[in-house]
Amino acid sequence: MSGTYYLRSFGCQMNEHDAERIRALLEARGLAPAGEPDGADVLVYNTCTVRKSADDRLAGHLGTAARLKREDPRRIVLVTGCLPQAEKEDLFRRFPFVDGALGPQNLHHLGDLLDAAVEPEGPGGGADPSPVRPRGYFEDGAAMSGDLEARRERPFQAWVQIMSGCTNYCSYCIVPYVRGPERSRSLADVGAEVRRLVGDGVREVTLLGQNVNAYGRDLGPGAGEGAPRSAVLSGSGFPALLRALDAVDGLDRIRFMTSHPKDLSDELVAAVADSPSVCEHVHLPAQAGSDRILAAMRRGYTAEWFLGRVRALREAVPDVSITTDLIAGFPGETEQEFAQTLDLVEAAAFDAAYTFVYSPRRGTAAADLPGQLPADVKRERVERLIVATQRLALKSRSAWVGRRAEVLVEGASRDGRLLRGRTRHNVTVNVSGPSEAGAIVEVEVTAATTTTLRGTIAKATSRR
Ligand code: SAM
Ligand code: SF4
Repeated sequence: MSGTYYLRSFGCQMNEHDAERIRALLEARGLAPAGEPDGADVLVYNTCTVRKSADDRLAGHLGTAARLKREDPRRIVLVTGCLPQAEKEDLFRRFPFVDGALGPQNLHHLGDLLDAAVEPEGPGGGADPSPVRPRGYFEDGAAMSGDLEARRERPFQAWVQIMSGCTNYCSYCIVPYVRGPERSRSLADVGAEVRRLVGDGVREVTLLGQNVNAYGRDLGPGAGEGAPRSAVLSGSGFPALLRALDAVDGLDRIRFMTSHPKDLSDELVAAVADSPSVCEHVHLPAQAGSDRILAAMRRGYTAEWFLGRVRALREAVPDVSITTDLIAGFPGETEQEFAQTLDLVEAAAFDAAYTFVYSPRRGTAAADLPGQLPADVKRERVERLIVATQRLALKSRSAWVGRRAEVLVEGASRDGRLLRGRTRHNVTVNVSGPSEAGAIVEVEVTAATTTTLRGTIAKATSRR
């Protein structure tokens, strides 16, 4: 197949990683990337359904796809990601011009989907492509997509999916319904992928999973077999994985996300503290500060327990950066309960936060709860959360001014005049001084904003 493709991806890091794999699959088929949808032969929309806002944005993009398809019906429009899994036939009813769709567990079928779209006798296709009938839809859910190649954005950084799905069923969340149950890759598989990546020049890996702390829970005994020989395999599960990867020669930085507070064990805190390659950053979504709301969310912890975990991390890991996700306006949340989220934010002194307005998702338990709050109440609350978390973020970043930080240079800054990189604490830094993408340097921090630092390169500290 020849021609060009346009890919638009929405949502979380897991989706971005899926997008890298979609690119690799399309390019393996001979398609070249196009920067704009106009003129592309294949249009792929990698969707997110976690919040309604993502759905709304997708509808706008699919409007463009519909116009382009009308202009040239030979164009192929595919939808991947969480929406096909959530909506199945509804998707084809809402967007009849879509040629094929598949969910995140079925990315390995993308080539078959393309074939089906080119050749309508393919699966689900045939002589009668009625608008309500999937013209291409694959559903066996068998892929652990770590097996698929990825077209990475930068040669020195890689995402590594260590598990798929989630079995927590937080009452507001659609993820378990669209990404299936928790499934871990074996430690041997993950270790082999990381060693291969390091051999290809990767210096930083980010381990991905909806709840990485639960890694290995679904694997039987012997899950540690095949780990690198030098690995110190104390304990099990995610801490053991971190220690095993820390022993991989040539790997400078290990990041991971997301950690669920209920599964943040002392053993994991210790593994973060004493594994030199593991970065001093933990993304620990609190969601809310009221124990009643946390129970209604089915999070499995109280505010006091959450703060206890924050204290344990801060005691064990010097300068650790703790970031979070917060939801404003969960059904039935009173003003007093919301104030407890603000109290938790202050007590935890988060280094940064993603703040969300509660968005009812069809099929989740919270969508049917009484006490759904009006949009203006939710918006006003989230704005107060933004003010509080930005104030704390500025304080956290300002504390770096006058200090040195290790930075992995990622490329040019937005305006192209400086270099841009990230500290081990996951803060973006704009730096001046001679260096190049992929280098690890020591930076003297000179200024801070709520989201970035500014500095000058003090030392080229390539540790290889
Ligand atoms: N697995 C991660 C965890 O448990 O923290 C997060 C997965 S989810 C894709 C990312 C964030 O989206 C959640 O932490 C939550 O704050 C937010 N989120 C999920 N469902 C939501 C909803 N229905 N409304 C608003 N925010 C939501
Ligand atoms: Fe969703 Fe909860 Fe699973 Fe995170 S842990 S993906 S919020 S169900």
